[in-house]
Amino acid sequence: MPAEKKHCLNCGKPIQGRMDKKFCDDQCRNSYNYHQYADNNNLVRRINYSLKRNRNILESLIPAGEDLGKTTKDKLLQEGFKFKYQTHTYETKKGAVYYYCYDYGYLPLEGDWYLVVRNKEQ
Ligand SMILES: [Zn+2]
Repeated sequence: MPAEKKHCLNCGKPIQGRMDKKFCDDQCRNSYNYHQYADNNNLVRRINYSLKRNRNILESLIPAGEDLGKTTKDKLLQEGFKFKYQTHTYETKKGAVYYYCYDYGYLPLEGDWYLVVRNKEQ
């Protein structure tokens, strides 16, 4: 059975030599690892940014001196809120689920309304 040709993970060229090699040379390995690291880093940075932004948007929707605010889905989207990012959820005994971005959260209400809350439980 002919040995399966291995290809460099960085440049895609066939690899000569040992079967456990993944790259043609050190340069390809370094380049691959660098980009892998940079990509992961960018992804984490983008998500962190979105989470913090979500948090700040929620904070801005609670009137000064209050613990709660009410807003609409349109308003949240307008502000650039990204619903897919949240840090954790909290379910009440009655089954209502609050979605949190750090210390601020929201509870979807009926008719595209949202209750915005400051976290009491950590
Ligand atoms: Zn290569």
